[in-house]
Amino acid sequence: MSILVYTESWDGKFRKSTFETVSYASETAKLLGTDVVAVSLEKVSEEELNKLGNYGVTKVVSCSGIDKGDSQAAAAVIANLSADATVLVFSNTYTAKMIAPRLSVKLKAGTISNVIALPESTSPLKVRRKAFSSKAIETTIVTIEKAILSIAPNSYGLIETGGTCSIESLDSSEKGTITIEGQETASGKISLSEAEIIVSAGRGLKGPENWGMIEELAELLGAATACSKPVADIGWRPHGEHVGQTGKAVAPDLYIAIGISGAIQHLAGVNSSKVMVAINTDPEAPFFKAADYGIVGDAFEVVPKMIEEIKKLNS
Ligand SMILES: Cc1cc2nc3c(=O)[nH]c(=O)nc-3n(C[C@H](O)[C@H](O)[C@H](O)COP(=O)(O)OP(=O)(O)OC[C@H]3O[C@@H](n4cnc5c(N)ncnc54)[C@H](O)[C@@H]3O)c2cc1C
Repeated sequence: MSILVYTESWDGKFRKSTFETVSYASETAKLLGTDVVAVSLEKVSEEELNKLGNYGVTKVVSCSGIDKGDSQAAAAVIANLSADATVLVFSNTYTAKMIAPRLSVKLKAGTISNVIALPESTSPLKVRRKAFSSKAIETTIVTIEKAILSIAPNSYGLIETGGTCSIESLDSSEKGTITIEGQETASGKISLSEAEIIVSAGRGLKGPENWGMIEELAELLGAATACSKPVADIGWRPHGEHVGQTGKAVAPDLYIAIGISGAIQHLAGVNSSKVMVAINTDPEAPFFKAADYGIVGDAFEVVPKMIEEIKKLNS
């Protein structure tokens, strides 16, 4: 019996959500009295693979030969490695959403997505998850032997153990039936789903030419930039920045909403943020009901003042 955790990397480095998922798997392994085995299907250096030991992994299987994005091949490899695993842990990313359901069918496992806390019990496995666009918390039980959990990014945190792990290499020739011909990378410097601070703006900004101050504020705060749906639909900002019910769901420590009304569909994707700040000229804007802090004011006056003050603080 063991726990198998799926890792994801970007430019040869593990994503923060991977370390978070591994931390979760490691704490769950303690509850079950077992070990954590990680699987890496991407090109990652030995030094990077070793970092997983510090978050509780005892063995990493580093598999080569799988095309990035080939979820059928990935599911086949992971299924082969899962004979002893009773719990498989993923981060709730787009990649995991492609692989976990396939595995669920192959392994006859119960899959629970968007998990936010350690299991309340292990026999049967009982976990809490976000439901209905994060408007509700559900308690869910897996009634069969194997469980697949995907953890909502930024919901658990990192736990360093100071441990080390062994590395095992595997060469696979698995191929799925779909080939990815090209990928366009989103322009943001910081991944939205993993960002600790997000500066987001809406139609109140009047036009794309006014995003300079949003980018400057984000840069000063080390934040990612986001936007409301209409802003992406009109083409003021790239679609990769669209957050909400039909865009990305985010859960930063701080979400600053500038010139965004706070429609229910927008809030659905951002209301897991730990602290929300709204800046809006309209005191009746719905965002003020959801926000922790509100500034009733014109973004074109407030944001430059914020930039000025942050620069003073930084110097
Ligand atoms: C099925 C469905 C799914 C949807 N999914 C999403 C989604 O995922 N994400 C999303 O964002 N929306 C989504 N929407 C759209 C959503 O309902 C709203 O229309 C949208 O969020 C509004 O965007 P906004 O707040 O930028 O624009 P507006 O509603 O036009 O609001 C602009 C705000 O800016 C304020 N403002 C104006 N000037 C200034 C100024 N100078 N300074 C400060 N504030 C100012 C105004 O008071 C206003 O509150 C969805 C809608 C549907 C029907």
